[in-house]
Amino acid sequence: MKILLASSEVVPFSKTGGLADVCGALPVALEQLGHEVIVFVPSYRGSDNCGAVIEPTGIDLQIPIDDRIVTGTLGRTCLPGSNITVYLVEQSNYFDRGGLYGDDGGEFEDNCERYTFFCRAVLESIRLLNWKPDQIHANDWQTGLIPTLLKVEYSDIPMYEGIASLMTIHNLAYQGSFWYQNLQLTGIDRKYFNWQQMESYGNLNLLKSGLVFADGISTVSPTYAQEIQGPEQGCGLDGLLTERRDVLAGILNGIDVGEWNPEIDPHLSTNYSVETVFQGKAECKAHLRRQFRLYENERTPLIGIVGRLATQKGWSLILPVMRKWLASLDVQWVVLGTGDTEYHRALESLHRSYPDKFGLNLGFSNQQAHQIEAGADMFVMPSQYEPCGLNQMYSMAYGTVPVVRQTGGLADTVVDTTPVTIENRTANGFSFVDFSSQALESALHRAVDIYHNRGDVWQQLIQTGMRRDWSWTASARQYVDLYQKIIVQHKDGQGRE
Ligand code: ADP
Repeated sequence: MKILLASSEVVPFSKTGGLADVCGALPVALEQLGHEVIVFVPSYRGSDNCGAVIEPTGIDLQIPIDDRIVTGTLGRTCLPGSNITVYLVEQSNYFDRGGLYGDDGGEFEDNCERYTFFCRAVLESIRLLNWKPDQIHANDWQTGLIPTLLKVEYSDIPMYEGIASLMTIHNLAYQGSFWYQNLQLTGIDRKYFNWQQMESYGNLNLLKSGLVFADGISTVSPTYAQEIQGPEQGCGLDGLLTERRDVLAGILNGIDVGEWNPEIDPHLSTNYSVETVFQGKAECKAHLRRQFRLYENERTPLIGIVGRLATQKGWSLILPVMRKWLASLDVQWVVLGTGDTEYHRALESLHRSYPDKFGLNLGFSNQQAHQIEAGADMFVMPSQYEPCGLNQMYSMAYGTVPVVRQTGGLADTVVDTTPVTIENRTANGFSFVDFSSQALESALHRAVDIYHNRGDVWQQLIQTGMRRDWSWTASARQYVDLYQKIIVQHKDGQGRE
């Protein structure tokens, strides 16, 4: 199968979040299954800092934007460690800036124009490169115009006939919603600006457009695929997603096991495998405590948290439990994260009160993220919603027991510890349902109780998590099945016009 994957960020050329990880890793796993994949991504300032050699293709792009023609070029390179061709869409006025989507001054005002250019450039490149894919895989709102234009503008051109499209949602909260006058920039006929197609609450909505016109839709976990069909997590698009549920799939992300593997991780003071996990983790824990100047006590459990300090991640649940536990229990905490000022302040104040019990880094450190995953006993992630989540999978790969809220990808990866799941050996963590600090605290109490009093069960949890295959291979197989199904759907004319 020939697959064209388009994304606004791809590791190692650009990254602001999990989207980039997925779009850097999935093509490699697809290639390993024998498929031909090419990737399109904008060429931002710094995209060439990763060491890849980007060569000019000599291809000039002439893209209609409003009543102008905007020119650009295509650069070519490979995804590191693979034969996958990556085309970088070069247009310095749009992409050579101090950030991907915004800078200190906020979101860029011309984001609709920038990604209209990108989407049109991707579609034009098919013709210019004379490379026709069977499937276009678009990701998030920045690429929402690709399925749209493919259906409303390109479908009658022979070179584009039969190309199917998949629109993947990585986080439904970000939709690319713009003032309706931006429709003019896209060059798409006004007749499509209606509540059933490109309009949402009076605005032009690029993600919605992609979801309407794509042949298939996917998101990054089966549970999130269900949740987004309801009003609570549907972000205003639940009606559309429910209507299109027959073509909506949920496929869990994998993790990059080249980067996240305790046996070979260069960031750890000691490497370990499932056979040597107890000694290995004890050494990593001691190292982590020294780094954060926490007191040494063999019996004291250490809880780790890495992630954005954002409401989505459940900080309103974590902070009350931390305040109470730091004052009363022999349990240590380490937090690595950046984000909202109110959480920075609250954590700083707690750190000042309990410096040898609570380690804090309000920064971004990939190395320390690895060290926390290895050195902590438990990892807490009580998200309000979580499309997939990577940290809980990293934790389990590192023998760190996750304590999570049962939502999205967390519900699909963490099996709560109960008498039944202990007995059938599926338990790998602790989870709870209510979005409340009482529910989080009670799950944490259960975890600490087993940590102290049921060493055999604790070992079982660690081993179950570490033995599971978290790599991309299984997910890539599911994407291949989905692409094949979508190609059939396309032939049957499922996408709407
Ligand atoms: P999200 O994409 O919603 O932020 P995920 O759990 O899917 O959450 O992925 C977050 C990724 O970002 C993980 O790889 C995590 O280790 C990393 N990360 C988040 N904050 C930090 C930080 N302060 N320092 C280092 N890595 C971080």
